[in-house]
Amino acid sequence: MEQFAREIVAPRAAAIDKSGEFPTDVMHAAAGHGLLGVTIPKTWDGAGRDYVSYALAIEAIARASATVAVSLSVTNSLVAELIAHVGRDTQRERWLKPLARGEAIGAFALSEPDAGTDAANQKTTAVRDGDGYRIRGRKVWVANAEEAAVAIVFASTRPGQRGQGVTAFLVPMNTPGITRTARADSLGVRGLGCMDLDLDIAVSDDQVLGRVDQGFRLAMWALQGGRVAIAAQALGIGQAALDEAIAYAKSRQQFGQPIGNYEAIQWMIADMATELAAARMLTLKAAAAKDYQDKSGFEASMAKLAASEAAHKAADKAMQVLASAGYRRGSVVERLFRDVRATEIYQGTSEAQRMIIAANILSTA
Ligand SMILES: Cc1cc2nc3c(=O)[nH]c(=O)nc-3n(C[C@H](O)[C@H](O)[C@H](O)COP(=O)(O)OP(=O)(O)OC[C@H]3O[C@@H](n4cnc5c(N)ncnc54)[C@H](O)[C@@H]3O)c2cc1C
Repeated sequence: MEQFAREIVAPRAAAIDKSGEFPTDVMHAAAGHGLLGVTIPKTWDGAGRDYVSYALAIEAIARASATVAVSLSVTNSLVAELIAHVGRDTQRERWLKPLARGEAIGAFALSEPDAGTDAANQKTTAVRDGDGYRIRGRKVWVANAEEAAVAIVFASTRPGQRGQGVTAFLVPMNTPGITRTARADSLGVRGLGCMDLDLDIAVSDDQVLGRVDQGFRLAMWALQGGRVAIAAQALGIGQAALDEAIAYAKSRQQFGQPIGNYEAIQWMIADMATELAAARMLTLKAAAAKDYQDKSGFEASMAKLAASEAAHKAADKAMQVLASAGYRRGSVVERLFRDVRATEIYQGTSEAQRMIIAANILSTA
């Protein structure tokens, strides 16, 4: 895994960032290394690995390219795992197997213009129409949308009922009536194929994933795993920042000696390493909780919060250690500094994670 990350993914990271192109070739290569369908049972063509192995793999890939890591995590955690969890066997045959083999990329369309942190505020509607539903609405920031073969689309089946009236649908991305807007020109994790989707589509009952009106619970279930993966992604970015800072501290000379001889630089490196190590413990704990507990949302939120903030601080300190060499457009640290910021935003902001953590503590105290 580390060799694949170092030799295949890392050399592409700068070009993916610069062009903003979705890295289709790297994703295919990743599939060949069992990085899609990582936790999906072998009966459904997955690799059948546990969540700790998956988290370690995502960290290794993110150390090379944050974009590739998050793209993999969306297909794995948010799409394939949800189909494995509640999909009917016909849906698993049609979508899970190709997703797990890496022949198809998946997308997860929950966010809307007025449904960000308040994800239950779904304005996209799915109205009964003949034998199925007509889905109308707009989804925003749909990662992987540029290349995805299938999206899980969330829509309100009982308007006004918020999370009690949302249904999940499996929607092929070539369905007539899907209009994809131009890819988002984002600060970091460029090349993620994020698009907005305007939807006016007909879907059949066979495309309902899980039960009608249960979709919001399913989205929250998927995000438990997704947040562990984002924690791992953040750790990979933070570790890459630490790697850069260590190498520069040893090689850059000022006042006739390596800057790593100065306590000011040593303390920054010590803090980066310690905070990342602490966050890694929480991430591995959350991954183990996902393997062994029915509910692991509390652990996942703690891991995502700690890892994204530790990685943000690590990228900031790496910038300070490298100073002008890091601030230069095109430097690795400059890319990491931009990439890491999204980990505190997507799959729930840091404020949303704190809300979940506090609600858990206060409801059980
Ligand atoms: C690169 C990228 C990729 C993404 N990929 C996907 C994807 O694949 N699928 C998908 O569905 N979505 C995706 N998103 C959307 C992402 O999940 C949302 O951006 C995120 O949930 C935050 O929503 P928002 O941006 O609308 O912010 P808002 O919800 O508008 O929040 C704005 C600010 O208010 C704070 N806030 C909001 N409510 C509260 C509250 N009650 N208490 C305290 N503070 C609060 C927030 O924490 C934040 O600081 C992606 C976003 C990005 C940037």
